[in-house]
This record gives sequence, structure tokens and C-alpha cells, in this order.
Amino acid sequence: MKWYTEKWSEQCKFSLGYDEHIHSEKTAFQQIDFYKGREFGTFFTLDGLMMVNEKDEFIYHDMIVHPAFATNPMIKHVLIIGGGDGGTAREVLRYPTVEKVVMAEIDERVFRLSQQYLPLTAAGIEEDQRMTLHFEDGLQYVRNAPDASFDLILVDSTDPISVGEGLFTTEFYKQCYRVLNDTGILINQHESPYFEEYAENMRKARNKIKAIFPLTKVYQYHMPTYPSGHWLFGFASKSFDPIADIKIAQWKKFSLKTKYYNTDLHIGAFALPNYVKEELASE
Ligand code: SAM
Repeated sequence: MKWYTEKWSEQCKFSLGYDEHIHSEKTAFQQIDFYKGREFGTFFTLDGLMMVNEKDEFIYHDMIVHPAFATNPMIKHVLIIGGGDGGTAREVLRYPTVEKVVMAEIDERVFRLSQQYLPLTAAGIEEDQRMTLHFEDGLQYVRNAPDASFDLILVDSTDPISVGEGLFTTEFYKQCYRVLNDTGILINQHESPYFEEYAENMRKARNKIKAIFPLTKVYQYHMPTYPSGHWLFGFASKSFDPIADIKIAQWKKFSLKTKYYNTDLHIGAFALPNYVKEELASE
């Protein structure tokens, strides 16, 4: 067995065993590597950072998608920014009420390689008639998208370095606000409060979104293979509060079997530890 190792902070590293390094490729955007292991199954990294593995992807993909649908079960038009492995689209497409899903992913190779090596997340996405794939920069996509054209935007992005940087800018959040309709919801990958490098990204994203959307909250999920395991999504909306407006009975009528998400967890996920509240209040 060999070991994939990722630096989590100055004095903390994380390693995962694998049997085979099945693909390595440098695209115009990033370095992509796919590995095959046993305990965590197939996994891939971008620029040496863990993105998706078969063992814990359900946590991330449940939590980026389902809280928005339990808050507004009428969502029909969804824009996914990033999300090239297909897992976020897979969860969105489980809702029969969804009519249109657009995915704007900058790097087509992430999607094609996921189709090849990670069918758990990518299989069947392209074939779904409701799906439109755009292989372009998410910031560019929202700049050109019409006003009020989506009910939900899900930002399933890498960290704010390299190609992901534009997805953490004030301009991007302003464009998202414009592209969402009056009941629109924005969910974004909101980094982690634990290690300072990520916490700084978290605070910056929070302050920018708060300056644009009338209602903003942050919710947590535990992700064993991301730095520290403690990660956040941002919830921003023009009109919905994810706690006051949760529609438990309506969401349960979808009868979706979810491995991580449930409506009790939804409410609990918005209750933040004191150190996170303090971090978010600072600056
Ligand atoms: N779950 C992962 C995480 O938080 O570590 C992220 C998943 S990964 C699929 C994120 C995707 O965002 C990658 O496929 C990457 O190519 C894409 N991405 C990064 N910057 C982007 C941009 N500016 N526009 C569109 N997609 C972008």
C-alpha cells in the first residue's frame, strides 16, 4: 500500500492509503489525480487537495443540496457552479419537481474523468434531459446569465486559490444575487473554521455575502477527509430563513432516502460552536 499525504496546516498532515494511482493529468486549470484505495474507495485530488472520495462524498453532497430544498420545496431551476464530479447534480436531480439544472464547471476533464472513474457521483448526469453542462468559468457564466433566472445557486467550488478565486469575490456574489429570483437561495462552499488559513477564507466570504444578501447564515457538517473534518456551507437568501421557514412535512413527502441529511440535523447544523460564532463576528 502507498500513502497519499496532504498538508492540513503548518504542523498537521493527513494521509490516506491507496493501492493504485490510476490517473494523473495537468489541465490548463489544475493538476488532477485519481487514486484507487480500499477503505475510502476511489478518490481524486485537485492541485494535491482532496476533493471527493467514495466513502464520505455523501456527507458533502447531502449537505450542499438538501437544506435548500427543505427550506423551499418549490425549487425548479438550479445553477451549480463547479461540482465537476457530478455528486451535487446527482442529489439535485433526485427531486422530480426540478425542471432545469445548469452546471458551470471550468474544467471539463474533472467531469470526464469522474464519468470514467467515479460513476458513484457522475453516472447518468449528462443523460438526464433536465441537465445542461457548460464548461466555463462560473464567474463568467453568471456575468452572462439573465436576471432572476434561478431559484437556487449551489457553489460547489475548490478553495479561493487558483481557478476558484473568482468564486469568492464580491463581484461573484453580486452577480449571484442578480441571477436569483425573489425567493432565491445561494449555498456556497464556506471553508472551515479550524485552521487559520481556512478560517481567514471563511471570514472573508462571510463578510462579502453579508453585505449583499438580506439573510445570511452558516451551517456545519463533518467531513472526515477535509482539513480538520469541520466544514461549513453558507446559506444566503432574498427571503427565506432556513430555520423559521423549514417545511418539514413537505420535504418528507419527497420520500428521499438520505444517508446523512435529515430535518433534525438541518436545524442542528445551524447551531454553531462559540468559537465559530466569535470567528464569524470578527473583522
Ligand atoms: N467538494 C469539493 C471540496 O470542497 O473540496 C469541491 C468539489 S470539486 C468538484 C470543485 C470543482 O470546482 C472542481 O471540479 C473545479 O474544477 C471547479 N472550479 C474551480 N474553480 C471554478 C470556477 N472558477 N468556475 C467553475 N468551476 C470551478
